[in-house]
Amino acid sequence: MTDFDVDLFVIGAGSGGVRAARIAAGYGARVAIAEEFRVGGTCVIRGCVPKKLMVYASRFRDEFDDAAGFGWTIPETAFDWPKLVAAKEREISRLSAIYRANLEKAGVAMIDSRAEIEDPNSIVLADGRRLSAKIILVATGGTPVLEPEIPGRELAITSNEVFDLPVMPPRLLIVGAGYISVEFASIFTRLGSKVAIASRGENVLRGFDDDMRCGVRDALVEEGVEMHFSHLPTRIEKIDGGLRVHLTSGLQLDVDQVMMATGRRPHTKGLGLERAGVKLDGVGAVIVDHFSQSNVKSIYAVGDVTNRIQLTPIAIREGHAFADTVFGDKPTAVDHAHVPTAVFTTPELGAVGLTEVEAREVCDCVDIYQASFRPLKATLSGRTEKTMMKIVVDGRSDVVLGVHILGEGAAELAQVLAIAIRLGAKKADFDATIAVHPTSAEELVTMR
Ligand code: NDP
Repeated sequence: MTDFDVDLFVIGAGSGGVRAARIAAGYGARVAIAEEFRVGGTCVIRGCVPKKLMVYASRFRDEFDDAAGFGWTIPETAFDWPKLVAAKEREISRLSAIYRANLEKAGVAMIDSRAEIEDPNSIVLADGRRLSAKIILVATGGTPVLEPEIPGRELAITSNEVFDLPVMPPRLLIVGAGYISVEFASIFTRLGSKVAIASRGENVLRGFDDDMRCGVRDALVEEGVEMHFSHLPTRIEKIDGGLRVHLTSGLQLDVDQVMMATGRRPHTKGLGLERAGVKLDGVGAVIVDHFSQSNVKSIYAVGDVTNRIQLTPIAIREGHAFADTVFGDKPTAVDHAHVPTAVFTTPELGAVGLTEVEAREVCDCVDIYQASFRPLKATLSGRTEKTMMKIVVDGRSDVVLGVHILGEGAAELAQVLAIAIRLGAKKADFDATIAVHPTSAEELVTMR
């Protein structure tokens, strides 16, 4: 390995790249990692972590509202957006510094620069420096797409900017109805904004279980989110004091910000991948095998840049498996089945396994167990919120194929349920499990 400057050069210090670099260094590899923005990647800097902090901020609104039912008198409350943004910034700076320190502790050379691939074993940095590497790992993540391509689209923001807006938008239109859209609709509406969603589909969260999708949609509508399904903007223009958005329905919406949340695309542009002969798919994602290796033997890729499943824990697992495979002499393929996921709306959605529709496609006998109830806390708070649970079972083998929950703590439940599903739990195992009372989760073992 000594013919090269480093054994491993990682491009991108996000979730996947950082994990791969640290584990490879732990196996004794000489590792360098380049990052052109901030160490931590999308998840830490402008994704999962700051988003969850904002979700917490938004939920105090409900707590204040609910408190009266429990005997509390809450004085008038006020929310300060710049204060939240500053607190969030302190936390992500702290996390970013920890990531950097951990890399350095592991002996990884940190390079604060853009890096591009010159050939299958060479990297060129922004200042023209060149480095040779036995292995190159592309971990550059994804970038928001600004679609549809309409006049005035440059006036819109994406999730890249939303965390640092100097002023909270009193009126916000979000385009798209996926994860980012519904999470931010839920956050901003609780913080006091008037939110509208415009989407090409007829419901939110395509790909999730239909009953849960309706539950999320109804909860957003109940909170006052205005839904424009099957309608997209055709034009955005600046007007006095804001933006005017023209929709395909003919309607005009006057808002302060428009946020495009129409998906993310692998960040491969200008990286030199084509020059090195690396095959990309139709959306520009690096095509890799089960071990994250591209068609060029020395070039691997993990995380969102590969267009497998765009989730942080997947990138981390792929990064770790790559390092085990290439530097730890432990070939490890990542199992992309039974991936639990959560959508941090309020109430939140947690899911693992097949939806009812997916189950019916692969199984000729599907049993559905469903519960919809008012959680105990809501009885005194007066909140109309419903908790929904759904268990999808293979009627012949009794194996649980999927569990879907909408309600408080659903994300935490999805994590634990994923273990049961991975172990092949049957509905009879759920039934034989003693309930924890009083909880919402006890429904999972008492549903018949
Ligand atoms: P999603 O893929 O979740 O949703 C994209 C939305 O935009 C959908 O409503 C989609 O419609 C619509 N859309 C896509 N292309 C166009 C287009 N050309 N014109 C109009 N509408 C379009 O993407 P997000 O941006 O919400 O999130 C990106 C990714 O980030 C997610 O896939 C997820 O993996 C990850 N993420 C995960 C979170 C979590 O785990 N809690 C939170 C936030 C993000 P249609 O449904 O019809 O395709």
